[in-house]
Amino acid sequence: MATQSLYRRYRPRRFSELRGQEHVVRALRNAVINNREGQGYLFSGPRGTGKTSSARILAKVLNCTNAIDGEPCCECDSCIAVEAGNSYDVHELDAASNNGVDAMRDLIEKASLSSPGRHKVYILDEVHMLSKGAEAALLKTLEEPPPHVVFVLATTDPQKVSATIRSRVQHLEFHLLPMDELEQHVRWVAADAGLTVSEEALQAVLTQGGGSARDTLSALELVSASGGDMPDTLAYDEFIEAFIAHDPGQALAALAFAVQQGRDPRTLAQDIVRYLRDCFLSLMAPELVQLPDQRAAQVADQAMRMGAAAIVRSMEKMGEILVEMRHAPDPRLLLDVALVQLTHEAAGNDMRRQRHGRAVVTPRAT
Ligand SMILES: [Zn+2]
Repeated sequence: MATQSLYRRYRPRRFSELRGQEHVVRALRNAVINNREGQGYLFSGPRGTGKTSSARILAKVLNCTNAIDGEPCCECDSCIAVEAGNSYDVHELDAASNNGVDAMRDLIEKASLSSPGRHKVYILDEVHMLSKGAEAALLKTLEEPPPHVVFVLATTDPQKVSATIRSRVQHLEFHLLPMDELEQHVRWVAADAGLTVSEEALQAVLTQGGGSARDTLSALELVSASGGDMPDTLAYDEFIEAFIAHDPGQALAALAFAVQQGRDPRTLAQDIVRYLRDCFLSLMAPELVQLPDQRAAQVADQAMRMGAAAIVRSMEKMGEILVEMRHAPDPRLLLDVALVQLTHEAAGNDMRRQRHGRAVVTPRAT
């Protein structure tokens, strides 16, 4: 099975198949049912939560010849064309790669050529990456959109979208999926696709996905490609255990192993930060931890042993390293150095060790 295909194969085709975004679905379906769809939408939310899928479903239902109850039929010529990605009514532009004024001008010219009775839907992904000039061109069109044209702007970072653009569009926020809902979905996908995945691997997949349907299915794909067992690269416990044990050797060995397995140092650093964040949340606000129960218990145990102060210091340090890594000729070296420092710093002076090795946090005035 080709990589990345699971997500495409199980991509939602109707609003009712979109998971965990009930508020968005309700707003869009009601608008369609009452013929009151907006001409500009901003879909914001973490990657892999269904923003582009929703935009495509909206494009489908607006041009569907048998739309029922705000849902596309997914069978008429128009629906099939949208799904195949060759409909003349849907145009997608990735602002991250086509952020120039020319691309935007081209798109706007197309937008003004409307075909009667059809809705033209323009999907602009990662709209916060548009150049200033392109943004100005878009803004002009959003102020006076041609009839039957709908703009769907998608972004992972709504704060970076200019306030003027935000004021011209209806903002709908997408959320990460609750863990139990995602687990249900992944189990269903694995069964439906006939994948054999061990329970341990399934839990690792959910951890890796962090609430994003796309990332979770990509992780599932990776696991199933390696025979249904958990690839060693998915284990971040090693780093945390090294911090707890103040063992630089263990941290460096874990890094060397991960790099050898083909992990990119930057992604790895991001994953360690995410892991530390889960540790932090499990101490401060356990209800916000997006992990399967069994995994959440393991993280909580590690977090207790590491201690809140050491976790926060590690998150800060890793955050700095991530910024430095952007321009570093050798990001691996930066991560090496950071890990050595962290295994020392994590020792801290604000933790006392009890007989059972549990770290106790004492308040600090920083
Ligand atoms: Zn249809």
